[in-house]
Amino acid sequence: MPTPEDLAEAGFTTRALHTPTRLADAHGSLRTPVYDSAAFEFGDSESIQEAFEGRRVAHTYSRSSNPTVEDLERRVTALAGAHATIAVASGMAAVTNVILALGGSGTNIVTTHSLFGNTAALLGQNLEPWGLHVRYVDMGDPAAVEAAIDGDTRLVFLEAIPNPQLEVIDIAAVVAVANRHGVPVVMDGTGTTPYLLRSRDLGVAVEVISSTKYISGGATSVGGLIIDNGVFDWAQCPRLTDWVARGGRNGFIMALRRGVYRNSGACMAPHTAFLQALGLETLALRADRSCANALELARRLEAHPTVTRVVYPGLTSAPGHAAAARQLHQGFGGILVFHLADRAACYRAMDALRVVRRATNVNDNKSLVIHPHSTIYADFSADEKAAMRVTDTMLRLSVGIEDVDDLWADLRRGLEAAGAG
Ligand SMILES: *Cc1c(COP(=O)(O)O)cnc(C)c1O
Repeated sequence: MPTPEDLAEAGFTTRALHTPTRLADAHGSLRTPVYDSAAFEFGDSESIQEAFEGRRVAHTYSRSSNPTVEDLERRVTALAGAHATIAVASGMAAVTNVILALGGSGTNIVTTHSLFGNTAALLGQNLEPWGLHVRYVDMGDPAAVEAAIDGDTRLVFLEAIPNPQLEVIDIAAVVAVANRHGVPVVMDGTGTTPYLLRSRDLGVAVEVISSTKYISGGATSVGGLIIDNGVFDWAQCPRLTDWVARGGRNGFIMALRRGVYRNSGACMAPHTAFLQALGLETLALRADRSCANALELARRLEAHPTVTRVVYPGLTSAPGHAAAARQLHQGFGGILVFHLADRAACYRAMDALRVVRRATNVNDNKSLVIHPHSTIYADFSADEKAAMRVTDTMLRLSVGIEDVDDLWADLRRGLEAAGAG
């Protein structure tokens, strides 16, 4: 077994495979088994009291923590170079838990209209009616971010590569202005994961991830991750005062684990943790392939006469390409957007595809296409869609790990159908 010193120097996939569990398995099992158990027994009343008071590290009840889930959390923490991780039931549970832990009625958060649809809906339909104020700014303009921050701002929320807008944000610049005001930046890193983008190095306080996507490795399960990068002084957060007094730099994780996460029942199922830990082991291999495929397809689509526009941060034509190249070390992500003449052309293209499947997920092993305007954003008004820059000429392609020439042959078939309208 590699020593901690070996692992400190090791690459991403070695750490994904070999980061040890906290306790050795009783049977020497080489893979952490699924602990499908709700409760854990203690030998005496002293030790169960210590566990409940947080003085003893032990599992009590799987809504609070579980050995299989802990194994996934420890591996993610090691890969992110972070302080701690909490795995949750879904990406949306991760977003919700973090905002509930830091914000509150009468406070505000600063974010952008370039948001995942359900995150936008969470803010508008659920949290604003409870009294949270949401301030929308252009994240590409750090001065606008700074102007929106005041004494009641509890966090700045952004996505590493907003989907489907795929605009490039200078994350370190946003962190610099937020931190000047003692405000943590929370970044949704679903499309990048710690493999493509090291949010800790950019000063991001918390990364949330939908592990349903790149990490699960083939859309096996729905899950989410909350990663405390360990770079933010939580004493600056008014909601965390008592937790920081108790837990110091564990204040945020304690507020989640012993407060919001436990109270909201947001726990990840052990079986999901097992599947997603397995996915983590091949994440780098799969992400390399999907990013390489995406770049190649973006270039070929850009040169095709039926395509009016391609958006992909890896194209030198992309606005912000230089900033993307600074932030992303292994590839520019697996999602690209291309525009055709109109909605009808998009539908003809989609309907002619055979290898690329029509489905709403992203970062699956399989390539997936969707027309966001008529599906993911169906519940938003025309004005809201315009504010989010979701237009009906746009197709989103999540590029999988198939052989790239098979994908291109399929896309050419789609573009031929689109052009024939
Ligand atoms: C899918 C997704 C989510 C939500 O994750 P679920 O696991 O589906 O709840 C949040 N943010 C982004 C960017 C996503 O792609």
